[in-house]
Amino acid sequence: MKRLIGYLFVAVLLLNPTILLAQKSAGTEVKQLQGPQNPRLGFVIHGGAGVISRGSLSPEREKEYRAKLEEAVMAGYKALQAGKSSLDAVEIAIRILEDSPLFNAGKGAVFTNEGKNELDASIMDGKTLGAGAVAGLTRVRNPITLARAVMEKSEHVMMVGAGAEKFAEQQKMELVDPKYFWTESRWNALQKILKEEKEKEEKSKDHGKLIEAEKPANKFGTVGAVALDKDGNLAAGTSTGGMTNKRFGRVGDAPIIGAGTYANNATCAVSATGWGEFFIRLSVARDISSLMEYRAMTVQQAADLVIKTKLQKLGGDGGVIAIDKFGNIGVSFNSEGMYRAYINAEGKPVVEIYGAEK
Ligand code: ASP
Repeated sequence: MKRLIGYLFVAVLLLNPTILLAQKSAGTEVKQLQGPQNPRLGFVIHGGAGVISRGSLSPEREKEYRAKLEEAVMAGYKALQAGKSSLDAVEIAIRILEDSPLFNAGKGAVFTNEGKNELDASIMDGKTLGAGAVAGLTRVRNPITLARAVMEKSEHVMMVGAGAEKFAEQQKMELVDPKYFWTESRWNALQKILKEEKEKEEKSKDHGKLIEAEKPANKFGTVGAVALDKDGNLAAGTSTGGMTNKRFGRVGDAPIIGAGTYANNATCAVSATGWGEFFIRLSVARDISSLMEYRAMTVQQAADLVIKTKLQKLGGDGGVIAIDKFGNIGVSFNSEGMYRAYINAEGKPVVEIYGAEK
């Protein structure tokens, strides 16, 4: 009899991967979604990582950030609750953040060295491994929607510059005058960097070494989202203006599938933010997925290994949000802060900005 009960217990365990996963992840910082809401819905967003220390934001500014993050995370979650797909939820939330001047994406995009705004975005479908990416846009109001159109309505994965905008016209996307992306705070940020650069240039004889040799402070603010829908499908998306003072058509990790964005129903969905050059070199998003696939890590363990060990060692900074096929959330960053929000076990939004907020 005892043996029979033992066999039954093992059989239940084998048939229920959620139990196995919960056991494997014991002791790590995994946020398991359980509770009154559909346990298979999960939604997490970020609004960029960077030097965001406590006290650096005025209370009013902090309130604005928290309100916008809550609005976006709730909009995506409500879409999931209404039965929409993870791709829909990702696009809906990212469009809200793109339309806000607070974040470095869409309306609030940072300026290039030449004083322009060049936008990048990507999206990935964990069910089909379909992906769409756009880079170097100057007139598309919502780059995430164009990235999705590239995935769903073209034969390609990535389009850049004028060609991508021609496709946007064909697809009847909303185009705006490039002036739409002008914001005072981003303009002032560029002027400050240009001034600092000039001062350094005057002091230094070695002019050739000046380009982006230093750790960029306060230049981040990319947005992203990852979702798990009622059908168990994962999706991830990321949208950015890149980095202030970028030059020569520079493109970061946000539109690079496997670097800034990745989704695979077998593992997880990831969206990154940070110093893009490092995220590209480490294939951050795909590496997190691979660690889960090949090394059976939990989503939090994989995110921490890539961000807190590998990225840290290489000298980069930033963070990721991730979600696995069971709705476990992984959040990891080695920067001072990361704007982020997720839906907790009670189905309520939680918004965080600084390190260790609890
Ligand atoms: N990762 C973005 C880039 O390098 C910047 C950011 O996350 O804010 O373009």
